[in-house]
Amino acid sequence: MRTSYSALETFKICPLKYKFSQIDKIKGEKSKEAVFGSVIHSALRFMFTKNPLFPTIDEVLNYFSDIWSGESLTLKIPENQTDSYLEEGKKILRKFFLKNQPWNFNIVDLESRFEVIIEDPNQKESHILAGIIDRVDKPTDDTYEIIDYKTSRRMPSQDFVDKNLQLSIYNLGLVKRWTHISPDQVTLSLYFLEHGEKLSSKRSSDDLASTKNQILLAIKDIRERERSSEFPPTPGPWCGFCPYRPICPMWKHLYKKEDAPSDEEIKSIIRDYFEAKNSVLGQYDKIEMLQAKIHHYLDEKGLERIFGPDGYITRRTAEKKNYDLERARVMLQPLGLWQEVLKVDEKKLEKILKTLPEQKQKKFDGIVKDIKKVSTLTISRKRLQIEKDL
Ligand code: SF4
Repeated sequence: MRTSYSALETFKICPLKYKFSQIDKIKGEKSKEAVFGSVIHSALRFMFTKNPLFPTIDEVLNYFSDIWSGESLTLKIPENQTDSYLEEGKKILRKFFLKNQPWNFNIVDLESRFEVIIEDPNQKESHILAGIIDRVDKPTDDTYEIIDYKTSRRMPSQDFVDKNLQLSIYNLGLVKRWTHISPDQVTLSLYFLEHGEKLSSKRSSDDLASTKNQILLAIKDIRERERSSEFPPTPGPWCGFCPYRPICPMWKHLYKKEDAPSDEEIKSIIRDYFEAKNSVLGQYDKIEMLQAKIHHYLDEKGLERIFGPDGYITRRTAEKKNYDLERARVMLQPLGLWQEVLKVDEKKLEKILKTLPEQKQKKFDGIVKDIKKVSTLTISRKRLQIEKDL
């Protein structure tokens, strides 16, 4: 398989988004935040390109303005928003330039492309992991620094940086590309442009070996999904930046334009459902009847969420694993964990398994007897509308 850090990360966040982008190859329109981030990255590359001299800060700002103006016209971003992003971008670049004059750094490569071959000894196959590193510096004769720029507002913890898979993959990429470099010669940094702060970390050879295992496990998960053709949507704050909302079963109901007679029917079912759920007297029969109608509508339209005047209803489908408990006992006893699940049901077993290292967890997949799907409907009283410029 040929993959990249961003594809693996997309799969981890939302398998359905992965399917849309990597398997169905559907080109989604980029969000303005994503375009802004890539224009800032281009301006930073320009800032560090000596031709024959480094550009002045005014040249960098003009370069940024020109590209941003073109992109914002293509994306049809409203003028007031275009200007806010323009000012924001200039502020970030000025601040960055003051702290990081290009002539003070020994730059080895910009937008450095790499490909790492990851061998899977169990499956006897190899995978290619490709990526682009924003910047590679050589601060001293025998040390290197990988720098990845971030435009996000939130600064993560040091622990996040120490465990960050993207940086580990970049480290792998660098030591594969230049084999004379060892992992401990490399500093890995995330530069948070909004804050003008850099968080750094290191990896050992052992860390990189476990990075390879993490990648192989992620690829195995993807393969399993491909085999079962199940790529569930996993909605969250990231949906706000997802270009696939108009075709995603969690959101497409919101984008529906036509008002067919059947729409009136479902609107009234949603209204009744909210009312019944609000009622102090448990209208269990009515709720059950409405739920059946809602499930039917969701199945018929290929949706997992529907929107009404009072909020929205989401269908959540969970898989319930039915374990061979005797074999679980044999496997957990040597780890001293069986006592923890003695009085238990499988929910507790699942909770315990989550505390094991990922590779150990995977072994328990082999003793799952069957998987039952349980769907529930949850309601949210938030009223959502499509953003005009989406
Ligand atoms: S909109 Fe959200 S749930 Fe749907 S594909 Fe995108 S990230 Fe996944």
